[in-house]
Amino acid sequence: MKKIGIGIIGTGFMGLSHALAYRAAAGIFPDEISPELICVADIDKAAAEKACQRFGFRRYTDNWQALIDDPEVDIVSITTPNRFHPEQALAAIKAGKHVHCEKPIAPGSKDAAIMTQAAEAKGVITQVGFNYLKNPLIKLAREMIADGELGEIISFRGIHAEDFMASPSTPWSWRLDPTGGAGAIADLGSHIVAMARFLLGPVVAVQADLETVIHQRPVSAGATELRQVAVDDIARLTVEFARGCKGSIEANWVATGRKMQLAFEIYGCRGSLHFSQERFNELHFYRTDGQGGHYGYQKIEAGPQHLPYGAFCPAPGHQLGFNDLKTIEIAEFLRAIAGQKVSGPDFREAWEIQKVIDGAIASAREKCRVNI
Ligand code: NAD
Repeated sequence: MKKIGIGIIGTGFMGLSHALAYRAAAGIFPDEISPELICVADIDKAAAEKACQRFGFRRYTDNWQALIDDPEVDIVSITTPNRFHPEQALAAIKAGKHVHCEKPIAPGSKDAAIMTQAAEAKGVITQVGFNYLKNPLIKLAREMIADGELGEIISFRGIHAEDFMASPSTPWSWRLDPTGGAGAIADLGSHIVAMARFLLGPVVAVQADLETVIHQRPVSAGATELRQVAVDDIARLTVEFARGCKGSIEANWVATGRKMQLAFEIYGCRGSLHFSQERFNELHFYRTDGQGGHYGYQKIEAGPQHLPYGAFCPAPGHQLGFNDLKTIEIAEFLRAIAGQKVSGPDFREAWEIQKVIDGAIASAREKCRVNI
Protein backbone atom coordinates (compact mmCIF):
# COMPACT_ATOMS: atom_id res chain seq x y z
CA MET A 1 0.00 0.00 0.00
CA LYS A 2 1.35 3.42 -1.02
CA LYS A 3 1.87 5.88 1.84
CA ILE A 4 0.89 9.52 1.47
CA GLY A 5 2.12 12.26 3.82
CA ILE A 6 -0.40 14.55 5.53
CA GLY A 7 0.12 18.09 6.76
CA ILE A 8 -2.66 19.90 8.63
CA ILE A 9 -2.69 23.67 9.18
CA GLY A 10 -4.82 24.69 12.17
CA THR A 11 -5.60 22.69 15.28
CA GLY A 12 -9.02 24.00 16.31
CA PHE A 13 -12.41 22.35 15.84
CA MET A 14 -11.68 21.34 12.25
CA GLY A 15 -7.97 20.64 12.61
CA LEU A 16 -8.79 17.95 15.15
CA SER A 17 -11.63 16.61 13.01
CA HIS A 18 -9.26 16.30 10.02
CA ALA A 19 -6.58 14.55 12.10
CA LEU A 20 -9.15 12.08 13.43
CA ALA A 21 -10.51 11.52 9.92
CA TYR A 22 -7.11 10.78 8.31
CA ARG A 23 -6.40 8.29 11.10
CA ALA A 24 -9.82 6.67 10.87
CA ALA A 25 -9.87 6.60 7.05
CA ALA A 26 -6.77 4.39 7.03
CA GLY A 27 -8.50 1.77 9.17
CA ILE A 28 -12.08 2.02 7.95
CA PHE A 29 -11.30 2.27 4.22
CA PRO A 30 -8.02 0.36 3.72
CA ASP A 31 -7.50 1.58 0.16
CA GLU A 32 -4.64 1.86 -2.28
CA ILE A 33 -3.08 4.77 -0.45
CA SER A 34 -2.66 5.07 3.25
CA PRO A 35 -2.30 8.45 5.01
CA GLU A 36 0.59 9.13 7.39
CA LEU A 37 0.40 12.13 9.73
CA ILE A 38 3.63 14.02 9.04
CA CYS A 39 3.32 17.59 10.23
CA VAL A 40 0.86 19.87 12.00
CA ALA A 41 1.08 23.67 11.98
CA ASP A 42 -0.62 26.29 14.08
CA ILE A 43 0.10 29.95 14.68
CA ASP A 44 -0.07 28.93 18.35
CA LYS A 45 3.03 26.73 18.73
CA ALA A 46 1.83 25.13 21.98
CA ALA A 47 -1.41 24.09 20.27
CA ALA A 48 0.59 22.57 17.40
CA GLU A 49 2.76 20.64 19.86
CA LYS A 50 -0.29 19.36 21.74
CA ALA A 51 -1.97 18.18 18.50
CA CYS A 52 1.30 16.58 17.38
CA GLN A 53 1.49 14.50 20.54
CA ARG A 54 -2.22 13.72 20.65
CA PHE A 55 -2.48 12.38 17.09
CA GLY A 56 1.05 11.11 16.51
CA PHE A 57 2.29 13.54 13.84
CA ARG A 58 6.06 13.27 13.28
CA ARG A 59 6.62 16.99 13.80
CA TYR A 60 4.95 20.34 14.41
CA THR A 61 5.61 23.96 13.54
CA ASP A 62 4.23 27.47 13.96
CA ASN A 63 5.24 28.24 10.37
CA TRP A 64 2.66 26.97 7.86
CA GLN A 65 4.98 27.64 4.90
CA ALA A 66 7.51 25.21 6.44
CA LEU A 67 4.76 22.56 6.54
CA ILE A 68 3.99 23.16 2.86
CA ASP A 69 7.71 22.97 1.98
CA ASP A 70 8.15 19.72 3.93
CA PRO A 71 9.15 17.13 1.28
CA GLU A 72 7.31 14.36 3.16
CA VAL A 73 4.00 16.28 3.02
CA ASP A 74 1.94 15.37 -0.08
CA ILE A 75 -1.47 16.65 1.09
CA VAL A 76 -2.16 19.95 2.85
CA SER A 77 -5.36 20.26 4.88
CA ILE A 78 -6.26 23.89 5.57
CA THR A 79 -8.39 24.36 8.67
CA THR A 80 -7.61 27.98 9.50
CA PRO A 81 -9.99 30.98 9.58
CA ASN A 82 -11.41 31.82 6.14
CA ARG A 83 -9.22 34.79 5.35
CA PHE A 84 -6.08 32.60 5.35
CA HIS A 85 -7.47 30.02 2.90
CA PRO A 86 -6.42 31.70 -0.38
CA GLU A 87 -2.81 32.42 0.62
CA GLN A 88 -2.25 29.00 2.17
CA ALA A 89 -4.01 27.09 -0.63
CA LEU A 90 -2.12 28.95 -3.36
CA ALA A 91 1.20 28.27 -1.62
CA ALA A 92 0.36 24.57 -1.33
CA ILE A 93 -0.72 24.39 -4.98
CA LYS A 94 2.48 26.17 -6.06
CA ALA A 95 4.44 23.49 -4.19
CA GLY A 96 2.48 20.78 -6.07
CA LYS A 97 0.60 19.51 -3.01
CA HIS A 98 -2.98 18.20 -3.09
CA VAL A 99 -5.22 20.51 -1.04
CA HIS A 100 -8.15 19.95 1.25
CA CYS A 101 -9.55 23.32 2.31
CA GLU A 102 -12.29 23.97 4.83
CA LYS A 103 -15.41 25.82 3.79
CA PRO A 104 -16.09 28.48 2.74
CA ILE A 105 -13.27 28.11 0.25
CA ALA A 106 -12.42 31.83 0.39
CA PRO A 107 -13.69 35.21 1.53
CA GLY A 108 -15.13 35.78 -1.96
CA SER A 109 -15.54 34.28 -5.41
CA LYS A 110 -12.64 36.29 -6.90
CA ASP A 111 -10.22 34.40 -4.65
CA ALA A 112 -12.12 31.15 -5.22
CA ALA A 113 -11.65 31.59 -8.98
CA ILE A 114 -7.90 32.18 -8.62
CA MET A 115 -7.56 29.12 -6.34
CA THR A 116 -9.58 26.91 -8.71
CA GLN A 117 -7.65 27.98 -11.79
CA ALA A 118 -4.29 27.54 -10.04
CA ALA A 119 -5.19 24.03 -8.84
CA GLU A 120 -6.48 22.96 -12.24
CA ALA A 121 -3.42 24.38 -14.02
CA LYS A 122 -1.09 22.54 -11.62
CA GLY A 123 -3.13 19.31 -11.81
CA VAL A 124 -3.46 18.82 -8.06
CA ILE A 125 -6.56 17.26 -6.49
CA THR A 126 -8.72 19.50 -4.32
CA GLN A 127 -11.57 18.99 -1.89
CA VAL A 128 -13.59 21.41 0.24
CA GLY A 129 -15.07 20.52 3.64
CA PHE A 130 -18.77 20.27 2.89
CA ASN A 131 -18.88 17.11 5.02
CA TYR A 132 -22.68 17.07 5.40
CA LEU A 133 -22.93 16.02 1.74
CA LYS A 134 -21.10 12.80 2.68
CA ASN A 135 -24.07 11.44 4.61
CA PRO A 136 -25.21 8.27 2.79
CA LEU A 137 -28.83 9.37 3.24
CA ILE A 138 -28.09 12.65 1.44
CA LYS A 139 -26.66 10.63 -1.44
CA LEU A 140 -29.87 8.55 -1.34
CA ALA A 141 -31.99 11.72 -1.42
CA ARG A 142 -30.08 12.92 -4.46
CA GLU A 143 -30.60 9.59 -6.23
CA MET A 144 -34.32 9.59 -5.38
CA ILE A 145 -34.69 13.06 -6.87
CA ALA A 146 -32.67 12.14 -9.96
CA ASP A 147 -34.68 8.92 -10.43
CA GLY A 148 -37.94 10.90 -10.39
CA GLU A 149 -39.32 9.40 -7.17
CA LEU A 150 -40.57 12.85 -6.16
CA GLY A 151 -41.75 13.69 -9.67
CA GLU A 152 -41.10 17.18 -10.95
CA ILE A 153 -39.65 19.31 -8.15
CA ILE A 154 -41.90 22.19 -7.13
CA SER A 155 -39.89 23.89 -4.41
CA PHE A 156 -37.01 23.75 -1.91
CA ARG A 157 -36.99 25.02 1.66
CA GLY A 158 -33.58 24.97 3.35
CA ILE A 159 -32.15 26.30 6.57
CA HIS A 160 -28.91 26.14 8.51
CA ALA A 161 -29.60 27.47 12.01
CA GLU A 162 -27.41 27.31 15.10
CA ASP A 163 -27.26 29.44 18.24
CA PHE A 164 -23.55 29.77 18.99
CA MET A 165 -23.70 33.55 18.34
CA ALA A 166 -27.10 34.14 19.99
CA SER A 167 -25.76 35.62 23.22
CA PRO A 168 -24.68 39.31 23.00
CA SER A 169 -21.86 38.39 25.42
CA THR A 170 -20.32 36.00 22.88
CA PRO A 171 -17.15 37.92 21.99
CA TRP A 172 -15.79 39.13 18.68
CA SER A 173 -13.91 36.40 16.82
CA TRP A 174 -12.56 35.63 13.35
CA ARG A 175 -16.06 34.58 12.29
CA LEU A 176 -17.05 38.29 12.49
CA ASP A 177 -14.00 39.49 10.54
CA PRO A 178 -15.28 41.11 7.34
CA THR A 179 -11.97 40.32 5.61
CA GLY A 180 -12.97 36.66 5.99
CA GLY A 181 -16.04 37.25 3.83
CA ALA A 182 -19.36 37.57 5.60
CA GLY A 183 -21.16 36.29 8.69
CA ALA A 184 -23.81 33.59 8.89
CA ILE A 185 -24.30 33.61 5.10
CA ALA A 186 -20.69 32.48 4.61
CA ASP A 187 -20.24 30.33 7.71
CA LEU A 188 -23.55 28.42 7.68
CA GLY A 189 -25.06 29.58 4.40
CA SER A 190 -22.24 27.92 2.46
CA HIS A 191 -23.35 24.52 3.85
CA ILE A 192 -27.03 24.88 2.96
CA VAL A 193 -26.23 26.36 -0.47
CA ALA A 194 -23.89 23.39 -1.06
CA MET A 195 -26.72 21.07 -0.04
CA ALA A 196 -29.23 22.79 -2.34
CA ARG A 197 -26.85 22.55 -5.29
CA PHE A 198 -25.95 18.92 -4.50
CA LEU A 199 -29.63 17.91 -4.49
CA LEU A 200 -31.20 20.14 -7.13
CA GLY A 201 -28.34 21.52 -9.24
CA PRO A 202 -27.23 25.04 -10.12
CA VAL A 203 -28.76 28.18 -8.63
CA VAL A 204 -29.19 30.85 -11.31
CA ALA A 205 -30.58 33.80 -9.35
CA VAL A 206 -30.86 35.02 -5.80
CA GLN A 207 -32.66 37.74 -3.88
CA ALA A 208 -31.54 38.21 -0.29
CA ASP A 209 -31.92 40.13 2.91
CA LEU A 210 -29.04 40.15 5.42
CA GLU A 211 -29.66 41.24 8.98
CA THR A 212 -27.29 42.04 11.83
CA VAL A 213 -29.11 41.41 15.10
CA ILE A 214 -26.30 42.03 17.61
CA HIS A 215 -24.50 45.20 16.54
CA GLN A 216 -21.69 45.20 19.10
CA ARG A 217 -19.83 42.44 20.90
CA PRO A 218 -17.12 42.34 23.59
CA VAL A 219 -13.64 42.54 22.06
CA SER A 220 -12.74 39.37 23.98
CA ALA A 221 -14.38 37.03 26.48
CA GLY A 222 -15.56 38.98 29.53
CA ALA A 223 -14.31 42.37 28.24
CA THR A 224 -16.39 45.52 28.75
CA GLU A 225 -14.96 47.19 25.64
CA LEU A 226 -17.25 46.59 22.67
CA ARG A 227 -16.46 46.23 18.98
CA GLN A 228 -18.84 46.99 16.11
CA VAL A 229 -20.16 44.02 14.14
CA ALA A 230 -20.16 44.52 10.36
CA VAL A 231 -21.43 41.13 9.18
CA ASP A 232 -24.81 39.40 9.12
CA ASP A 233 -26.34 37.22 11.85
CA ILE A 234 -29.26 36.10 9.69
CA ALA A 235 -29.49 35.75 5.91
CA ARG A 236 -32.78 35.11 4.13
CA LEU A 237 -32.57 34.12 0.48
CA THR A 238 -35.03 33.37 -2.29
CA VAL A 239 -33.28 31.31 -4.95
CA GLU A 240 -34.07 30.13 -8.47
CA PHE A 241 -32.66 26.85 -9.71
CA ALA A 242 -31.62 26.20 -13.32
CA ARG A 243 -34.09 23.27 -13.36
CA GLY A 244 -36.97 25.78 -13.06
CA CYS A 245 -38.14 25.60 -9.46
CA LYS A 246 -37.59 28.16 -6.74
CA GLY A 247 -36.79 27.91 -3.07
CA SER A 248 -36.00 29.67 0.16
CA ILE A 249 -32.78 29.42 2.17
CA GLU A 250 -32.01 30.78 5.62
CA ALA A 251 -28.67 30.96 7.41
CA ASN A 252 -28.92 31.96 11.04
CA TRP A 253 -26.38 31.73 13.86
CA VAL A 254 -28.54 33.47 16.48
CA ALA A 255 -31.32 30.84 16.40
CA THR A 256 -31.74 30.38 20.16
CA GLY A 257 -31.99 26.68 21.01
CA ARG A 258 -30.85 25.35 17.64
CA LYS A 259 -27.52 23.48 17.69
CA MET A 260 -27.33 21.96 14.22
CA GLN A 261 -30.48 22.54 12.19
CA LEU A 262 -29.10 22.00 8.72
CA ALA A 263 -32.45 21.00 7.31
CA PHE A 264 -34.44 20.92 4.12
CA GLU A 265 -37.82 20.05 2.69
CA ILE A 266 -38.16 19.30 -1.00
CA TYR A 267 -41.60 19.14 -2.53
CA GLY A 268 -42.29 17.34 -5.80
CA CYS A 269 -45.55 16.59 -7.61
CA ARG A 270 -45.31 12.86 -6.66
CA GLY A 271 -43.70 13.09 -3.24
CA SER A 272 -41.52 15.00 -0.85
CA LEU A 273 -38.49 14.60 1.39
CA HIS A 274 -37.59 16.18 4.67
CA PHE A 275 -34.30 15.95 6.55
CA SER A 276 -32.52 17.56 9.48
CA GLN A 277 -28.90 17.16 10.52
CA GLU A 278 -30.22 17.08 14.11
CA ARG A 279 -31.35 13.50 13.31
CA PHE A 280 -29.12 12.84 10.36
CA ASN A 281 -29.49 9.07 10.31
CA GLU A 282 -33.10 9.53 9.20
CA LEU A 283 -34.60 10.67 5.91
CA HIS A 284 -38.37 11.17 5.63
CA PHE A 285 -40.17 10.34 2.40
CA TYR A 286 -43.79 11.08 1.51
CA ARG A 287 -45.53 9.66 -1.58
CA THR A 288 -48.72 11.07 -3.00
CA ASP A 289 -49.83 7.54 -3.98
CA GLY A 290 -50.06 6.26 -0.37
CA GLN A 291 -51.77 2.86 -0.49
CA GLY A 292 -55.29 2.37 0.91
CA GLY A 293 -55.47 5.89 2.29
CA HIS A 294 -52.35 5.36 4.47
CA TYR A 295 -50.69 8.68 3.85
CA GLY A 296 -47.81 10.09 5.86
CA TYR A 297 -44.04 10.35 5.91
CA GLN A 298 -42.07 7.10 5.88
CA LYS A 299 -38.88 7.18 7.98
CA ILE A 300 -35.86 5.72 6.14
CA GLU A 301 -33.20 4.76 8.72
CA ALA A 302 -29.52 4.63 7.81
CA GLY A 303 -28.08 1.14 7.61
CA PRO A 304 -25.38 -0.92 5.88
CA GLN A 305 -27.35 -0.85 2.61
CA HIS A 306 -26.57 2.87 2.42
CA LEU A 307 -22.90 2.83 1.44
CA PRO A 308 -20.48 3.37 3.12
CA TYR A 309 -22.41 3.06 6.43
CA GLY A 310 -21.47 -0.65 6.61
CA ALA A 311 -17.76 0.19 6.68
CA PHE A 312 -18.35 1.79 10.10
CA CYS A 313 -20.96 -0.55 11.55
CA PRO A 314 -22.72 -3.74 10.38
CA ALA A 315 -25.99 -2.99 12.21
CA PRO A 316 -28.73 -0.66 10.95
CA GLY A 317 -30.02 2.11 13.20
CA HIS A 318 -26.78 2.31 15.24
CA GLN A 319 -26.01 5.61 13.51
CA LEU A 320 -23.09 7.51 12.08
CA GLY A 321 -21.66 10.61 13.81
CA PHE A 322 -20.26 13.98 12.72
CA ASN A 323 -16.63 12.82 12.51
CA ASP A 324 -17.70 9.79 10.46
CA LEU A 325 -18.89 12.17 7.73
CA LYS A 326 -15.47 13.82 7.78
CA THR A 327 -13.86 10.37 7.54
CA ILE A 328 -15.94 9.54 4.45
CA GLU A 329 -14.97 12.90 2.93
CA ILE A 330 -11.27 12.34 3.60
CA ALA A 331 -11.43 8.74 2.28
CA GLU A 332 -13.03 9.98 -0.95
CA PHE A 333 -10.33 12.66 -1.24
CA LEU A 334 -7.61 10.00 -0.83
CA ARG A 335 -9.32 7.84 -3.47
CA ALA A 336 -9.46 10.78 -5.87
CA ILE A 337 -5.71 11.22 -5.40
CA ALA A 338 -5.31 7.51 -6.12
CA GLY A 339 -7.06 8.13 -9.45
CA GLN A 340 -10.52 6.88 -8.60
CA LYS A 341 -13.78 8.67 -9.39
CA VAL A 342 -13.93 12.09 -7.75
CA SER A 343 -17.15 12.98 -5.97
CA GLY A 344 -16.03 16.42 -4.77
CA PRO A 345 -16.94 19.03 -3.88
CA ASP A 346 -13.67 20.28 -5.32
CA PHE A 347 -12.47 23.89 -5.61
CA ARG A 348 -14.55 24.42 -8.78
CA GLU A 349 -17.78 23.42 -7.02
CA ALA A 350 -16.84 25.50 -3.96
CA TRP A 351 -16.31 28.46 -6.30
CA GLU A 352 -19.88 27.96 -7.65
CA ILE A 353 -21.18 27.87 -4.06
CA GLN A 354 -19.23 31.05 -3.31
CA LYS A 355 -20.85 32.79 -6.30
CA VAL A 356 -24.27 32.22 -4.71
CA ILE A 357 -23.02 33.66 -1.40
CA ASP A 358 -21.51 36.68 -3.15
CA GLY A 359 -24.76 37.05 -5.12
CA ALA A 360 -26.76 37.06 -1.87
CA ILE A 361 -24.49 39.73 -0.36
CA ALA A 362 -24.76 41.88 -3.51
CA SER A 363 -28.53 41.40 -3.62
CA ALA A 364 -28.93 42.51 0.00
CA ARG A 365 -26.68 45.52 -0.59
CA GLU A 366 -28.31 46.63 -3.86
CA LYS A 367 -31.81 45.51 -2.80
CA CYS A 368 -32.36 43.67 -6.08
CA ARG A 369 -32.42 40.22 -7.65
CA VAL A 370 -28.97 39.06 -8.74
CA ASN A 371 -28.23 36.57 -11.54
CA ILE A 372 -25.49 34.12 -10.66
P1 NAD B 1 -10.95 27.34 15.22
O1 NAD B 1 -10.91 28.77 15.64
O2 NAD B 1 -11.46 26.32 16.17
O3 NAD B 1 -9.50 26.89 14.77
C1 NAD B 1 -8.68 27.65 13.91
C2 NAD B 1 -7.23 27.25 14.16
O4 NAD B 1 -6.40 27.91 13.22
C3 NAD B 1 -6.72 27.65 15.57
O5 NAD B 1 -6.03 26.57 16.11
C4 NAD B 1 -5.80 28.85 15.28
O6 NAD B 1 -4.79 28.98 16.24
C5 NAD B 1 -5.27 28.46 13.92
N1 NAD B 1 -4.78 29.59 13.11
C6 NAD B 1 -5.33 30.82 13.00
N2 NAD B 1 -4.63 31.53 12.10
C7 NAD B 1 -3.64 30.75 11.64
C8 NAD B 1 -2.59 30.93 10.69
N3 NAD B 1 -2.45 32.06 10.01
N4 NAD B 1 -1.74 29.89 10.49
C9 NAD B 1 -1.87 28.74 11.17
N5 NAD B 1 -2.85 28.52 12.08
C10 NAD B 1 -3.72 29.51 12.30
O7 NAD B 1 -11.78 27.34 13.87
P2 NAD B 1 -12.59 26.12 13.25
O8 NAD B 1 -13.96 26.10 13.83
O9 NAD B 1 -11.75 24.90 13.25
O10 NAD B 1 -12.75 26.66 11.74
C11 NAD B 1 -11.67 26.64 10.84
C12 NAD B 1 -12.20 26.51 9.42
O11 NAD B 1 -13.05 25.36 9.35
C13 NAD B 1 -13.08 27.69 8.98
O12 NAD B 1 -12.89 27.93 7.62
C14 NAD B 1 -14.49 27.20 9.24
O13 NAD B 1 -15.46 27.83 8.41
C15 NAD B 1 -14.36 25.74 8.93
N6 NAD B 1 -15.34 24.88 9.66
C16 NAD B 1 -15.91 23.86 8.98
C17 NAD B 1 -16.81 23.03 9.62
C18 NAD B 1 -17.44 21.88 8.85
O14 NAD B 1 -18.42 21.30 9.30
N7 NAD B 1 -16.88 21.53 7.70
C19 NAD B 1 -17.12 23.22 10.97
C20 NAD B 1 -16.49 24.26 11.65
C21 NAD B 1 -15.58 25.08 10.98
